Amino acid sequence: MIEAVRPSLAVSVHDVSPWTREPVNRMLQDLAGAGVGATSLLVVPDHHHRGSVDQDAGFLRWLRDLESGGHEVVLHGFWHRREPRNGNGWWHKLVTEHYTAGEGEFYDLDYDEARRRMNAGRQMLEGAGFTVGGFIAPAWLLGADAERAARDEGFVYTTRLGGVLDLRSRDWTASQSLVYSVRSGWRRRVSLGWNASLAARLRGNPLVRLGLHPPDWEHAPIRGQALRLAGSFAEGRRVIRYRDWVAW
Ligand SMILES: [Zn+2]
Repeated sequence: MIEAVRPSLAVSVHDVSPWTREPVNRMLQDLAGAGVGATSLLVVPDHHHRGSVDQDAGFLRWLRDLESGGHEVVLHGFWHRREPRNGNGWWHKLVTEHYTAGEGEFYDLDYDEARRRMNAGRQMLEGAGFTVGGFIAPAWLLGADAERAARDEGFVYTTRLGGVLDLRSRDWTASQSLVYSVRSGWRRRVSLGWNASLAARLRGNPLVRLGLHPPDWEHAPIRGQALRLAGSFAEGRRVIRYRDWVAW
């Protein structure tokens, strides 16, 4: 773990699927131009039921090129969406439907269902030839049962909004991820201010994390700030994937 204590930058790209391939590709080109040539790609096996990644040969070729170019493939849910259920309390509704816009697929899955989906997702990706060590839940919402399922399923690490968890050793690295919320004008304004001040606070942190979503790239001020922050952190830090941070 000596390597791991060098100041590092980990950029993750969420929601990678055939549906988001084009914006993700632009994002990766822009990041490479800013000095970030390696990221963790959070792949959704069947994004909103729009089609499995293993049915899209062009997507798989593209993703294989990225993996052999130094990016990492991470399992990110199965469908990504959390199906609304009857009988949920107001707090559940607030967290899973308002806060995440219904994207908290693994927030309250029981152990068996979580493990079934993780296994199906991993088999799909590994069956297509990818190496998969990480599981990251949609919206970082991983319930306690689902965390146990990820460990038992043999995943090496997961991340939450506030840090990185090595599932083998249970080592926790506290590092709040920079992340944008772009669904409305006021959210974008708040995001720009929040991330500027969070980035300043993270300067001394051994690990800086930036989590990007495809819609971020539709907004020039967000794209601009994300690239400036990524570029300035990349200058003084080792650019890593999460698998490097946990030395896997
Ligand atoms: Zn996601």
